[in-house]
Amino acid sequence: MEFDTIAAISTPMGEGAIAIVRLSGDDAFAIGDQVFRGKKGKPLTELDSHTIHYGHIVDPATEQVVEEVMVSVLKGPKTFTRENVLEINCHGGLVSVNKVLQLVLKHGARLAEPGEFTKRAFLNGRIDLSQAEAVMDLIRAKTDRAMNVALNQMEGRLSKLIQKLRQEILETLAHVEVNIDYPEYDDVEEMTHSVLLEKSSYVRDEIEKLIKTSEQGKILREGLSTVIIGRPNVGKSSLLNSLVHENKAIVTDIPGTTRDVIEEYVNVRGVPLRLVDTAGIRETEDIVERIGVERSRQVLKEADLILLVLNHADDLTFEDEQLFEAVKGMDVIVIVNKTDLPRKIDLEKVEALAANHKLVTTALIEEEGVDELEEAISSLFFDGSIEAGDMTYVSNSRHIALLHQASTSINEAIQNVEMGIPIDIAQIDLTRTWELLGEIIGESVHDSLIDQLFSQFCLGK
Ligand code: GDP
Ligand code: ZN
Repeated sequence: MEFDTIAAISTPMGEGAIAIVRLSGDDAFAIGDQVFRGKKGKPLTELDSHTIHYGHIVDPATEQVVEEVMVSVLKGPKTFTRENVLEINCHGGLVSVNKVLQLVLKHGARLAEPGEFTKRAFLNGRIDLSQAEAVMDLIRAKTDRAMNVALNQMEGRLSKLIQKLRQEILETLAHVEVNIDYPEYDDVEEMTHSVLLEKSSYVRDEIEKLIKTSEQGKILREGLSTVIIGRPNVGKSSLLNSLVHENKAIVTDIPGTTRDVIEEYVNVRGVPLRLVDTAGIRETEDIVERIGVERSRQVLKEADLILLVLNHADDLTFEDEQLFEAVKGMDVIVIVNKTDLPRKIDLEKVEALAANHKLVTTALIEEEGVDELEEAISSLFFDGSIEAGDMTYVSNSRHIALLHQASTSINEAIQNVEMGIPIDIAQIDLTRTWELLGEIIGESVHDSLIDQLFSQFCLGK
């Protein structure tokens, strides 16, 4: 089989000090040769398989060194994917790992979809489906138990709800059947109309509620989009580091030296977070202007959770208040950092500003208060406002698509009845809705099982 060359950062979520950019595909070495400058100066294809080489990743446009690396040359078919595999081990910070990834993407690789490496191993005959599933279980086992429990409960709740909706449709169909069999009784027809409208509307409302929850489902797949904001030097990068439990992001004494927006995935007590340090968003410029910048607006708008950091050892400023203003109505945890230093901040004022938010104090330099912060995050998620713990929600894109179709067909049934179109027409739409809902709980799967299965993997696997 022939595939294009894929690439991804393949460090497990929140684990490992070394990040690996992994490439797989025919062009893995050709792409590597464009950006890798090895000590021996040989092209990668001329190197023996299963060997490791020291060198530098450069931007070929400028020949500027991006990162000091060790690359593993793994020639197919004796690799996990059976394709040529190049693994670039980056020892530097997260920023440079991202740069390496961006470089290989720029020079011909495509960003891998979740689970795509494993999918290739399967498609190239390297592993069978049950092995693929075992890999998936392993990856799953890495997430916290709380998360798994939550996931299982949700899955159970979803199929129960779907079964209930299908039952409602069946009962409605039974009424329609009676109506078709005994058309001469006027009152039967009237009753059928009202029962049909009532039950169908109920089913439609439930389906639409489920569709709405798919946004929350996205959170589970991609992590809660969590944005760290605060004035320069308050400790945003330190906060990111504390949460990652590693010193990956750049921490510095000089305000505004971090250039890029740093993203990191972490698992905080079973809550998946996609952390964004806004340090790079024009930290040097006036904060009011900064908020006006389209990019930071966008980042804020898409955030599920805001971590607003203040400096305990400094006065509360107009800029701080502007930040409170900017995140009004959002889920916010306010962090008063640097409590190891003498207090200058007006705590009463902070409490007033944070009236609708959680408030945590930290001394990140001493790793103090991180537990409390993690607790605040997890309680927001599990029993707080971000996601109602007892809610049924949908995260699977196949399910979401089916729900949309089901919604369309039940709406057609309702509209037809309302327009006085013969009731046996509604029967068709109702039956269709019943079938579509059945597909969600696996009564009939037309979909490609493989795509569905592999889309559940983590990135870079
Ligand atoms: P950012 O600009 O908001 O990302 O701030 P950084 O995380 O880069 O931190 C700025 C400086 O404050 C660094 O020198 C940190 O070591 C220091 N810092 C961070 N947290 C604390 C803290 O709790 N106490 C003290 N004393 N210094 C801290
Ligand atoms: Zn910073």
